[in-house]
Amino acid sequence: MANEEYKWFLRDEVVDAGLCTFCGACAAVCPNDRIEFREDGPALKEECPRNGQGACKDVCQRVVTFASKIGPNIFGFKAKPPALLGQYETLVAARATDPAIQEAGQDGGAVTALLSYCMDNGLIDGVIATGDAGKPSSRVVRSKDELLDSAGSKYSAIPVLSAIKDAGDITNAAVVGLPCHVYGIRKTQFFPGMTSHGFEVGENGEKIKVPNIAYVIGLFCTENFNYDKLAEFMKEKGVAISDVRRAVIHLDELVVTTDSDSYEFDLNELWNAGCVQEGCVICRDAVSKLSDISAGFMGSGKGWTTLMGRTAKGVELIQAAEKAGYLETKPDVDLHRIEEFAGLKMQRFKWELKRRLDEGKKVKFYWASDYPGVMGET
Ligand code: SF4
Ligand code: SF4
Repeated sequence: MANEEYKWFLRDEVVDAGLCTFCGACAAVCPNDRIEFREDGPALKEECPRNGQGACKDVCQRVVTFASKIGPNIFGFKAKPPALLGQYETLVAARATDPAIQEAGQDGGAVTALLSYCMDNGLIDGVIATGDAGKPSSRVVRSKDELLDSAGSKYSAIPVLSAIKDAGDITNAAVVGLPCHVYGIRKTQFFPGMTSHGFEVGENGEKIKVPNIAYVIGLFCTENFNYDKLAEFMKEKGVAISDVRRAVIHLDELVVTTDSDSYEFDLNELWNAGCVQEGCVICRDAVSKLSDISAGFMGSGKGWTTLMGRTAKGVELIQAAEKAGYLETKPDVDLHRIEEFAGLKMQRFKWELKRRLDEGKKVKFYWASDYPGVMGET
């Protein structure tokens, strides 16, 4: 039977409506392993015993983010009202002290240094992140060698959270992802409290096993690309995507590096060529507001990463990693640049929301009007 013939709420309301972010949460929580990822998004590979309305519907952040409920869970009594950059306690520019991590990681390797500190000190025994120098995929990283191997941004839409299915042996995990991954993991993490029932029991009588989510490190994000469309675009420019070792968005360019050269692609051209994921066009969070620590190049100079310590444990982790010599920090961060970058993304979201509503397209009401909202409370 073709996938289209199976009943599935998320296909009808999220994927076919161009809202899916490829976060992977739906696939991660399906106890019957019915959801697979295809080029155009997640799909049911067999009929769902829950009539297509099980745990996947409950964790999808494009149905509703539940951010206003999640906030108190992670910020406790310090939870503040919605703000453009979300709430944070510390703001620093940081980089790894280890030259090997600096070289392998993104913008000075601060995120890799934080994760190294966590691994060395037994705070985590696995990281759910992206991996592979070739076609990027989600993976569970279990050692420091693998950590270096998976360091750096990937810039294609990857269902990072689907790797939770492979993390059954992990006790304490860190998740590194984009803002949409952060919403997805937070909904999964606080799942029983977010819905009227707990995790769904599968046909084998078992529930899925989610490791304790010790840390969520959220990356800054403007948009992401469809891997196949990006590959085609690059091929036309004479670059094989399989040769790309590193990809970085800097201002209005995607800069990719191969073993022998570096290439700059204009972001407008990538947008016009349809390389940007449809779900990204209507995304409103640039800075991973629900993470423990947000990280990105915006606001810091070359070779440094901006770190926003948001939760108490996020702030403590930055301080501890610095004290232990894994990280060096300085206070020079251009906050205005970050606000400008986040403001532009929110503006784009509002335009796109209006455009879709004007054209009578489906947009989930509870998601669109959910905290941090679209009614000026940015
Ligand atoms: S947004 Fe995430 S949870 Fe929702 S359908 Fe897409 S991949 Fe699944
Ligand atoms: S723009 Fe939004 S939806 Fe797209 S990858 Fe970034 S955080 Fe996810």
